[in-house]
Amino acid sequence: MTGLMTGKRGLIMGVANSHSIAWGIAKTLADQGAELAFTYQGEALGKRVKPLAESVGSDIVMPCDVEDLASVDAVFDTLKEKWGSIDFVVHAIGFSDKNELKGRYADTSRENFTRTMVISCFSFTEIAKRAGAIMNEGGSMITLTYAGSVRVMPNYNVMGVAKAALESSVRYLATDFGPEGIRVNAISAGPVRTLAGAGISDARQMFNYQRDNSPLRKSTTIEDVGGTALYLLSDLSSSVTGETHYVDAGYNTVSMPTLDTLGY
Ligand code: NAD
Repeated sequence: MTGLMTGKRGLIMGVANSHSIAWGIAKTLADQGAELAFTYQGEALGKRVKPLAESVGSDIVMPCDVEDLASVDAVFDTLKEKWGSIDFVVHAIGFSDKNELKGRYADTSRENFTRTMVISCFSFTEIAKRAGAIMNEGGSMITLTYAGSVRVMPNYNVMGVAKAALESSVRYLATDFGPEGIRVNAISAGPVRTLAGAGISDARQMFNYQRDNSPLRKSTTIEDVGGTALYLLSDLSSSVTGETHYVDAGYNTVSMPTLDTLGY
């Protein structure tokens, strides 16, 4: 199947390098004919993102730090000026102080709680508001979440709380934008080895455990997430909104490892 995104234009936020989930999504969308614009956080990452964007034919690559609302406004002003309207947006942005992605959630500081919430949750609301203002009917927005939102994962701590709020905001945003024919969904990805993923203490052990105990006995790839993003951003999912869709080899559906794995 090719050309599912032909004629559609959209913004990819959250590429740090070629291992980023946002990059897996961007490649899949570009292969299906989408026209893409990218943002990057700071010039150091910009050096990596610019050649990646160029490799998929994009010439709109803009700096954006979601802690600086003026930079978010500038992104959507540029898109309005260059394209007039957009069809989709991908929000793959998350951050928390890695010193608090270990130990007890109870020890989270007020400062890091607030910063984690603003960057990892509220930025999607601010972006959705601006994207919605220039989005065509039939448009679609997605964000990335993780199952630590609904069940306790070791060390995920305040990120789990932020992802719970993010998933809830997806449902509220879907209701806000639904009457305009715009859909809003989340992809809950299994562990992927990325810069952000590496910030979580014991990430490698958690990655291996979830791979070995998922029904499919595999880890999630950025291409796996790309395929689901294509579904959610294209007209294939035209009646799907407000959902959190798991792409995790089925890990979220099991309550404990199989007995043979445990050696019982
Ligand atoms: P990544 O490190 O490649 O991407 C994270 C991105 O967030 C980076 O591009 C970074 O620049 C951006 N970011 C952080 N703070 C920002 C700010 N203030 N302004 C603008 N951008 C900022 O890692 P990733 O794993 O691809 O993460 C993408 C999303 O996927 C995140 O929301 C993450 O929580 C989520 N996720 C990751 C996993 C995993 O295992 N890696 C699993 C489920 C969900």
